[in-house]
Amino acid sequence: MEDVIVVGAGPCGLAAAIALQDAGIGAVVIEKYNLVHSIYRYPTNLHFFSTPELLEIGGYPFPTPHDKPTRREALEYYRNVAQRRKLDVRPYEEATLIRKTAEGFFLVETERHGIKRFYESRAVVVATGYFDRPNAIGIPGEELPHVSHYFTEAHPYAGTKVAIIGGNNSAVDAAMELSRVGAEPFVVYRGDAAKQKIKPWVRPLFEGAVAKGAIGMLYNAQVVEIQPGRVRIRHADGSAETRDADFVLALTGFRPDRTLLGGAGAETKPETGAPVYDPETMETTVKGLYVAGVVASGEDANEVFIETGRHHGTAIARHLCAGRS
Ligand SMILES: Cc1cc2nc3c(=O)[nH]c(=O)nc-3n(C[C@H](O)[C@H](O)[C@H](O)COP(=O)(O)OP(=O)(O)OC[C@H]3O[C@@H](n4cnc5c(N)ncnc54)[C@H](O)[C@@H]3O)c2cc1C
Repeated sequence: MEDVIVVGAGPCGLAAAIALQDAGIGAVVIEKYNLVHSIYRYPTNLHFFSTPELLEIGGYPFPTPHDKPTRREALEYYRNVAQRRKLDVRPYEEATLIRKTAEGFFLVETERHGIKRFYESRAVVVATGYFDRPNAIGIPGEELPHVSHYFTEAHPYAGTKVAIIGGNNSAVDAAMELSRVGAEPFVVYRGDAAKQKIKPWVRPLFEGAVAKGAIGMLYNAQVVEIQPGRVRIRHADGSAETRDADFVLALTGFRPDRTLLGGAGAETKPETGAPVYDPETMETTVKGLYVAGVVASGEDANEVFIETGRHHGTAIARHLCAGRS
């Protein structure tokens, strides 16, 4: 019998495991891929928008010469913290089911290399994040092979026309990188310039690139269909056009998958699917079942991020300790 199973070794799952460890509570961390897999999948050349101290977990300083750490530095940082704290992370093991037993314990079913395994624990922390589940646009052609919801590096797009759907940081960063390798990116954004969330230090550079014609920027516009080699765009004024696009990057954000929580009997809000939980303790409507990190977010998945979600584990550990005394 384990004390606690933490599902997900993202920054918030790791922070929760450390908080539990600090409180003398054992934690086994089940991770579908390898630790901080979401950060591994970020664009290769990404710089965080957060300063390093706001990404720290377990009180370990985040060493970097940069104001905003790079993806590579973050991978190294979280790996080092997990190793120094000797966290019991089980990589490439996916939690497939959580069930509360009649005796009040949890049964967590996992799968690794196609082999099922069952853990029993007193409590479970679900920290599964959101990066696995991009927001689908729901338009014809979205499933075509030249369409991706993830941007990694610009090189493969050199000399090609790229439609970028979305208009916030991820879309803007990708467009900037693409323009530097000689691609022809154009951004199709359904909002207007005032709504666009762009890092303040990137905005003037982006606007400069748009003014020079290195990046096309269509506001109040939506891609309504994707075909091989082109996209159909509808503008808010009712007009429409077709543009050539060798590739489409649909950078429209992510939303958490709450299947595990729902399967365990946790109540979710019908409008958003967000879990119902006590913000003081992070406990869901199932006693002993907690949420940590971005999986706890409501309608806007960006309302929880590393800066805030890294503290959830402390509340969970405090609640579990209070329950013991
Ligand atoms: C491009 C980009 C830049 C960002 N920059 C910043 C920033 O500067 N500052 C900031 O604070 N936030 C930033 N964020 C947001 C931040 O990445 C997320 O808020 C953060 O990753 C959430 O952490 P988490 O631990 O809740 O989830 P995640 O990091 O998503 O980790 C969840 C983990 O759970 C695993 N998992 C999922 N399902 C299962 C399962 N069934 N079984 C086992 N394991 C499972 C996943 O593989 C993953 O490793 C950025 C996000 C993006 C996309």
